Parts: sequence; structure tokens; C-alpha cells
Amino acid sequence: MTVLIAGGGPVGLATALELAHHGVASLVVEPRAEVSWLRPRAKTTSARTMELFRRWGVADRVRERAALPVSWSDQAVFTTGLLGREVTRFHGCFGLDLTGDDRAAEPGQQIGQPAIEQVLREAVAASPHARLETGWTLIGLVEDGDGVTATLSGLDGATREVRADYLVGADGAWSKVREAIGVVYEGSADERPNFNIVFRAPGLAERVPHGPAIHYWVLDPEQPGLVGRMDLDDLWWCIAQGVTQEVGEADPLRLVRALVGDAIDAEIVATDPWKAKLLLAERYGTRRVFLAGDAAHLNPPWGGHGFNTGIGDAVNLGWKLAAVLSGWAPATLLDSYEAERRPIAARTIEEAARNMATLAPELSDPRLTGDDAEFAAARPAVARAVQESKDGEFHSLDLVLGYSYRGSSLVTGDVGGRLDHRWLAPGDSLYDHLGRGFTLVGDLDRPETEEFVKAAAEEGVPLETFHHRLGGLALVRPDQHVAWTAGTPGSAKEVLRRAIGHPR
Ligand SMILES: Cc1cc2nc3c(=O)[nH]c(=O)nc-3n(C[C@H](O)[C@H](O)[C@H](O)COP(=O)(O)OP(=O)(O)OC[C@H]3O[C@@H](n4cnc5c(N)ncnc54)[C@H](O)[C@@H]3O)c2cc1C
Repeated sequence: MTVLIAGGGPVGLATALELAHHGVASLVVEPRAEVSWLRPRAKTTSARTMELFRRWGVADRVRERAALPVSWSDQAVFTTGLLGREVTRFHGCFGLDLTGDDRAAEPGQQIGQPAIEQVLREAVAASPHARLETGWTLIGLVEDGDGVTATLSGLDGATREVRADYLVGADGAWSKVREAIGVVYEGSADERPNFNIVFRAPGLAERVPHGPAIHYWVLDPEQPGLVGRMDLDDLWWCIAQGVTQEVGEADPLRLVRALVGDAIDAEIVATDPWKAKLLLAERYGTRRVFLAGDAAHLNPPWGGHGFNTGIGDAVNLGWKLAAVLSGWAPATLLDSYEAERRPIAARTIEEAARNMATLAPELSDPRLTGDDAEFAAARPAVARAVQESKDGEFHSLDLVLGYSYRGSSLVTGDVGGRLDHRWLAPGDSLYDHLGRGFTLVGDLDRPETEEFVKAAAEEGVPLETFHHRLGGLALVRPDQHVAWTAGTPGSAKEVLRRAIGHPR
């Protein structure tokens, strides 16, 4: 086996799809036979993740499977209760308003994590290169100079060994792979408990006075939290904040009623207690074993970055492993995975921690649930506090689309960000014209074009070219990040060799 991937959550499956995108074989091993429909967890798929899904040809399927169409709402409403009074609201949340916008090839999408995993499982099943085997858990590994031997345990306790050139640990927060290579998380945990509930409440939607919204934040000091729709039928999710597992399990219906603000009838479908973590692996791997996704970093869900950061890891690691395994890049390219991705995770954790500093309990004011005069008196200050403290949580394109590998050893000059996007015609994204390897994009009449084409042929690096008239010339990596732009000193050969990880 070329690459073994432990963990078939979103990140493991995405790693397999990125490898398959470059024609490299992988095996994903995962204990769960089915995706966990009753643990929706991530619901925010960022515009960047949707662009990467578009690159693998699965973005349309993700949208088809999403129970809430992207056009349904891009708003987050802050209320005194789902059926209560509105305090303030945000528009254009989570990049959901980017349809047709030059800034991105795809808007974000609200969709439950299990539906994403199901689409990714289907894409893996359809791939001639990737394979998923469920019912298997990695229990140990031995790394040597040529590869890794992993021991897997089946449902009946039987074990088997799998030999691979490389192993990716995408096995989540309790990563066995991380433990086996002796890497620990650094950081802290938020001690405030949260209690998630999925519930079915026929007729509730018609009673909501705030119109469609992806989040309804409840600023009631008696029971602060969030409520949202799982689908456009009767299924809802909520997060009751400050509620322990013990209290939550004892009477989940009471929590639902408190957040809704009425003694509604509801069927409790599932519960899921959790605490936010701010943890980053001290290292991202060894020579042949790499960590990706939650196995490498855990951040509070506020802002919806967790799984999206993991998809970024999958793409960064995937193209590099593919390049090394296909023989057109040296193994030193793999050193850049940690160097490029760990700082992004650190920044994301910081941003999520900032979002977490002010949650519904901190924003609640007892006067909001008082009579009309008390509500009117309290509302302006609370609304202002909400707008000031939460804007970055709903509008984070600077991080989501703007993160950069500037300063990376692979990058020449002051670049490293994602190639600026633009629409060439309705539905025709500049990104659709990029190759799977490197692409030279821009004014191909410039003299550097010939130099790059020659250097790529000599180095055996896959390079495509795409002419477009907007001036300049850029060398774009397989992950759509810019490695060089015209005007930066250095020969084409030096730039290209650097971009594929040859030491300077
Ligand atoms: C309440 C909540 C809300 C969230 N909301 C968001 C959000 O809106 N947006 C967002 O981006 N993120 C969000 N997240 C975070 C998101 O759920 C995770 O970041 C995401 O699941 C990480 O994906 P992963 O594939 O790295 O890990 P996981 O999803 O944990 O997958 C790991 C997989 O590995 C398997 N596994 C475990 N051990 C082994 C082993 N030894 N061998 C083989 N397989 C193994 C597991 O069965 C699992 O399938 C939220 C999290 C929570 C708790």
C-alpha cells in the first residue's frame, strides 16, 4: 500500500481524495461502518473548503445533500429565545453570501458533518485510487527507513498488518497514531460544559418570528445557548451552554423548552456533551508518519473552523505526498507540511479562543427577559456588545480565504496566499483552469514562461499554463497557493526547485 490513512472522518477521507486527485493509491481504515447521523457536530463548511471540494468535483453533490440550501439564509439572529424578541442580527455569515462573488469560487455551505462524510465516502468508493475499509482500528505502528507497518484490529478482535510507504493519522482527538509516535498536544481546555441536543418539533418552524437564520443565539441568563435547523422539516439542533452531561441527560426536554422559550412538545433524538479544547500537537509527524485534522489540532467550534482547518491539512499533505511518491519531488518537501500548516492551526485556535471569550452567557442580560420597557432599555447596549464581540466569528474571510504560506521555504518572494479568484464567465471559475500539478497563470507572453516550461520539463514537474489578460504571471501550486510572481528575483529553475522542496 502506498499511503495508509488511519481514520475515515472528514479529514482522512479528504486526504484520500487529494491523493486520488494526483493518481496516488491509499487505504483508509475506520472503525465506524456508518457515519454518525445522530452526532451532527460541524455544520459550517467554509467557502475555502467548498472550493477544495469543487476541485475534487464533489461541491455540487455536497450542496444537493445539504438540507438547508445556501440561498435559504446567511443570517445569525440574537434573541431572548427562539420564539422570543430579537436583539440584533448579522448578515452574510460564514461566506454564505458569496454566490457569484469574485472573491471565491464557491460560497460556504451549512451542512451537517455526517452528510459531508457520506458524500466523501461515496467519492472514495467511486475512485479507482482510494479505498475505505470499515470495521478496522489502528492499534500500533512501527516505522523504519522504507515505510511503516501498522497493526489493525477488526471488530472480532482479529488483527492484521498493513505495510505502507507513508501513514497519515487522521484519527481524531484521541489519535492512536499521535500517541504511537510520542507526540503530545500543547494547550488548554475550556472548563465550561456544553450540551448538544438534536430534537424533532413538528410545527415549531412556523412559529419562529425571526425568519430564516442559520443560528438563533439565545441570550437568556436562565439558559443561554444556540438553536438552529437541521433541515427544513422538523429536525433542530441546540447547544445548551453551561450544562453538564449529568444535568443535560436528566432532562433534555427542559433545556429545549428553555431555549425555545415555550413548553413545546419535542422528541429528543440525540444528545452529545462536550467541552471546548485549545490544543496543538507539538510536532506534526516524523519522516513517514503525519498527523492531520483533529489529531494535530483541536479548537473551539466558535467560528466553525475545526474541520475546515483539517481539510486544508489534507490538501497540503496530500499533494506533497503525491509529489514525493510520484517521484517529482524530494522527500524534504514533506518537512514543509508542519512548517506551513502548524502556524495556520495556531492562528485558528487563537481566533476561535477570541470568539469563545464572549458567548451567550456573557452577553445575556436579565432585563432582556423582563417586560417591554426593561427589554427596550437593555437592548441597545447588548446589541452593541454583540456586534462588537461577535462580528469576527461570523465574518472571518481574512482567515478562511486569506491565510498564507508567506515565509515558507517553498515560496519565493512576498507571496504564498491563495491565488486571487475571479469569474471568467458566469459559472466559469479561474480555478477550473488550473492543472493538478503546478500552473503558470497570467500573461504567457512574458519571457519567464519559456524558462518555466523548460525547467519543469527538466525537473519532471507537472506544469500547465493558462493565459489570462489580467497582467502579471504567477506560479500556482497544486493547492492553488502562489509560489512566485513575475518580478521576483531568481531563475525559473531555482524557483521551481524551491517550490518542490529542494533545500535552498
Ligand atoms: C459541537 C461541535 C461543533 C463543531 N462545529 C464545527 C463547525 O461548525 N465547523 C467545523 O469546521 N468544525 C466543527 N467542529 C469540529 C469538527 O467536528 C472536527 O474538527 C472534525 O470532526 C475533525 O475531523 P477529523 O477527520 O480530523 O476527526 P474526526 O471527525 O474525529 O474523525 C476521526 C476518525 O478516526 C476514527 N478513528 C479513531 N481512532 C482510530 C484508530 N485508532 N484507527 C482508525 N480510525 C480511528 C474515528 O472513528 C473517526 O471517524 C465541531 C465540533 C464539535 C464538538
